Amino acid sequence: MLELKGVTSRYGPVTALQDVDLVAGEGRVTSVLGANGAGKTTLLRTISGLHRPESGRVTFDGQDITRMSADRMTRAGLAHVPEGRGVITELTVDENLRLGLLGRSRHREPLSVSDVVDLFPILGDRSHALAHTLSGGERQMLVIARALLATPRMLLLDEPSLGLAPRISAQIFGVIRQLVEEHGLSVLLVEQNARSALSIADVGIVLGLGKVIACDDAEVLSADENLRHAYLGY
Ligand code: ATP
Repeated sequence: MLELKGVTSRYGPVTALQDVDLVAGEGRVTSVLGANGAGKTTLLRTISGLHRPESGRVTFDGQDITRMSADRMTRAGLAHVPEGRGVITELTVDENLRLGLLGRSRHREPLSVSDVVDLFPILGDRSHALAHTLSGGERQMLVIARALLATPRMLLLDEPSLGLAPRISAQIFGVIRQLVEEHGLSVLLVEQNARSALSIADVGIVLGLGKVIACDDAEVLSADENLRHAYLGY
């Protein structure tokens, strides 16, 4: 569904991705793992058009999206949820959610605001609260819910568990798996929290200093003790 071929991305003299080949399949969770600075964020920024690769190609359902603008990308069915909980703090939870209804793609059965509130009930309880009053976990739920309202076919998620308590991360990872199982969504997830990201993944990809070190079924990677110790930190 999503494919990268020979993608190299740089920031001036720093090579963040080097000749990366990668596939994220339909109806699957593909987790990209790696330490700080491995190139995970750059990978998602390159796919979603926020960073221009120096070379290589990104295709989505066979269509070349390497130089597509961000709004056309949304209409094509790709939604990027960047690191850092990008909510609009002066708006309420409900108003933030409704922003997700703008520029929807027409590729899937749309989810309504009440559907996404069913996935994350706390957003319903707090619907009239200003977003700046939310906890980190609630903000993360809000940005995922808002992205889902754009009716994506594939969600690109950058470190959804960053800085969250284990119980809240587990809830978010559970919903991600549920979206794939019950709504046929495809997910490309980048995470430092390798154990959790592999536990919900079909396929795992390990990045090290901008290169693909390993790519295999998530179960195979989880069982590889040497790889876990060397690259995944557990
Ligand atoms: P983290 O988990 O810390 O966010 P990451 O795996 O997401 O790490 P990237 O943020 O993609 O890694 O960074 C990859 C490399 O590119 C690193 O060496 C980083 O220092 C460098 N880099 C990232 N953004 C910039 C930038 N705006 N300017 C210069 N170098 C950058």
